[in-house]
Amino acid sequence: MRQRIIAGNWKMNTTFAEGVELAKEVAALKASLAKDVVVILAPPFTHLPEVHRVTKDSGIAVAAQNCAAQPSGAFTGEVSAGMIASCGATYVILGHSERREYFGEDSQVLRRKISEAFALGLKPIFCVGETLAQREAGKQEEVVAKQLEEVVCDLPETQFKQLIVAYEPVWAIGTGKTATTDQAQQMHRFIRSVLEKKYGEVLAQGTPILYGGSLKPANAQELLGKADVDGGLIGGASLDAKDFIAIGAAFEQVGL
Ligand code: PEP
Repeated sequence: MRQRIIAGNWKMNTTFAEGVELAKEVAALKASLAKDVVVILAPPFTHLPEVHRVTKDSGIAVAAQNCAAQPSGAFTGEVSAGMIASCGATYVILGHSERREYFGEDSQVLRRKISEAFALGLKPIFCVGETLAQREAGKQEEVVAKQLEEVVCDLPETQFKQLIVAYEPVWAIGTGKTATTDQAQQMHRFIRSVLEKKYGEVLAQGTPILYGGSLKPANAQELLGKADVDGGLIGGASLDAKDFIAIGAAFEQVGL
């Protein structure tokens, strides 16, 4: 069985004190989830060591929301994968549409970031997804296949086994719109087929593929109930500990 995962992407939200409080609330509620549900919190860089400290005994993993494409040096304002790992984080979100759109991150830079992440022992949560215009033009599969092929389709097997993919239709992020369950399942199945072509069925069947885009308690059950949807990358709803954990509890409601 594939891992079942909920990952909270706090984006640029919460002061240090608010973030630590939120992490403590999530840690307290996590015990209500099935033991095998993997819970990941991705706070801002500044909060990483303390969020790790207050959640580690509850088995929560910590992720950064980005990392530098370089290992060290004169790159003012950047944070390396090594620095992140030294704070106790074990995952890093890469390729988020906000990074692609506002910070110009393309496949070339993402390849370097993925390689840095793996070199320092961080597991990437690699985001892919199409814009509304691309979906309306019927190009969503073409776009997503290209994003995958350009960045994660020539990894060594040992690295590929550590990879998590997140499908985040750009038009559904922070907009209150969600993909229909059929749109999500269809794209997740397609992503798995792209990975299968490169890595074979056994490995591709093991890759967790998360859905992201206005996931909340009210729609979690139907989305997480789909065969190829292995969890969620959650933005807005992860800023409320109860809502975030309620999304994780939806795995049980769908009997997975
Ligand atoms: C995200 O940013 O990864 C995300 C899915 O955001 P939201 O849940 O707010 O749409």
